Amino acid sequence: MGKGLLIVFTGNGKGKTTAALGMAMRAAGHGLRVCFVQFIKGGWRYGELEAVKRFEGLIDLHVMGKGFTWKSDNIEEDARLAREAWEFACAAIASGVYHTVVLDEFTYLLHYQMLELEPCLRVLADRHPDQHVVITGRYAPQQLIDAADLVTEMQAVKHPLKGGVKAQQGIEF
Ligand code: ATP
Ligand code: MG
Repeated sequence: MGKGLLIVFTGNGKGKTTAALGMAMRAAGHGLRVCFVQFIKGGWRYGELEAVKRFEGLIDLHVMGKGFTWKSDNIEEDARLAREAWEFACAAIASGVYHTVVLDEFTYLLHYQMLELEPCLRVLADRHPDQHVVITGRYAPQQLIDAADLVTEMQAVKHPLKGGVKAQQGIEF
């Protein structure tokens, strides 16, 4: 018997979301089902959204907030969408259908207090012992790090955007 892991990819360096996607691919390669929930969507046409369509029935991808970009001019609406997205994720975790549930960019909801930390930690703690959960995003709260089994901090050593290189297809999106 394995153990369901709580995995956190955090830090300021590039590679958090792509690491989670890599894990989704790895599981899918074994015929294991993954639910990949994107809590924040940028303006780009992300390659992974198209790629994941080719894994129909194995990787279920859900972009929350209907293309919502997290521009905070309506905090109440943001909080409502955050709760809605979290409830969706809770249902995926509780369903028992998925080998792995990915909560991409979820840390921001905690960091900016769109959601209360304690109830979220309780849902994670009370999940089925076999259930793997992967959380990505900068500023992972210390209590989430404490609760996790595996934490990797991506450290920004160099990034081409700093030198003026624009975001590129297939690299950033
Ligand atoms: P990726 O999606 O490429 O795995 P990520 O999930 O680690 O990156 P995020 O914090 O979600 O990174 O930010 C998304 C975008 O910001 C990516 O396009 C990424 O290239 C860019 N980015 C990440 N780290 C840095 C950095 N240190 N400086 C500038 N841009 C960055
Ligand atoms: Mg990311």
